[in-house]
Amino acid sequence: MAAAKVAIVGVGKIVRDQHVPALADNPAFELAATASRHSSLDGVDPYTSIDDLLIARPDVEAVAVCTPPQVRHDIARTALLAGKHVLLEKPPGATVSEVDALRDIAHSQGVCLFATWHSRYAPAVGDAKAWVDSHPVSKVEIVWREDVRRWHPGQAWIWEAGGLGVFDPGVNALSIATLILPPFFLTGSDLFFPANRQAPIAAKLAFHLDGADTMTADFDWRQEGPQTWDIRMEAKDGSRLRLSLGGAELEIDGASVPQGPVREYGGIYERFAELIATKAHDVDVRPLAQVADAFLLGRRLVVEPFHD
Ligand code: NAP
Repeated sequence: MAAAKVAIVGVGKIVRDQHVPALADNPAFELAATASRHSSLDGVDPYTSIDDLLIARPDVEAVAVCTPPQVRHDIARTALLAGKHVLLEKPPGATVSEVDALRDIAHSQGVCLFATWHSRYAPAVGDAKAWVDSHPVSKVEIVWREDVRRWHPGQAWIWEAGGLGVFDPGVNALSIATLILPPFFLTGSDLFFPANRQAPIAAKLAFHLDGADTMTADFDWRQEGPQTWDIRMEAKDGSRLRLSLGGAELEIDGASVPQGPVREYGGIYERFAELIATKAHDVDVRPLAQVADAFLLGRRLVVEPFHD
């Protein structure tokens, strides 16, 4: 079967780090064009807007939208209405309702919409889910603490309304939790906003999970030194699980469970090829809904200004 021509909108860090190598490794796709206001990729047909791209390259079948979330909806809508299959980077939008609206358009257009959650493709997530399925949990502790200066240098959008702040990485933890745990919902949220920013630098969340004594999340962007992307659980029978490095490593009862290599975006593009072949959708807004709930219920606490 001929490779599907795909275009990328919004050439930035994640495109260069992950999308370009994943596409190069997948014979189901050919990276045919980009649309980005200031950036381009060597050897790839460049445009500066989705509209110009769609006019010039009617042969493009699929569009990967990798911009910040605040501008994602309009680009995705334009591509869907032009009959293109669409992949959305995480989070799939700035609001839950706009993602629902995109799903309706994709459905009526008969094309595929894929709202990706890359952390769900981390190697140890499947084994962690199997453990949860056979071990009713009594305690869940999510700890996602990283250094914003190291991972998001110069990204002004991430601090603006809709940029999610510390929930930009935190939603990755929630994407794993919503996949592997039974349904849970937010009961409390403290959001820590630097005095000079529109998005939180830290968040402490509490959840209700049926049958569990506690479920908490601690997201923080002020962690220097070792970085922590852990989900720790205790089961009612005393067994313990620790999913670490964002889902790359797993320990059960203190013993390491060997995992394959990290190839989250390889998995994402394999899934996108399957969805295109069947014209199916994969749109799960639950991680974004948890973030929205954290803002709805959040106590806003002002902390010292943040400077890059
Ligand atoms: P980035 O480096 O800032 O790149 C985003 C690109 O989008 C920019 O280079 C910009 O290119 C384009 N863009 C279009 N409209 C924009 C606007 N209004 N403001 C700013 N940029 C705009 O960001 P990124 O790290 O690649 O993240 C993009 C998305 O991927 C985010 O949703 C993020 O959560 C997700 N993601 C990032 C990572 C990571 O490690 N960085 C990992 C997984 C997922 P032009 O100026 O050329 O238009």
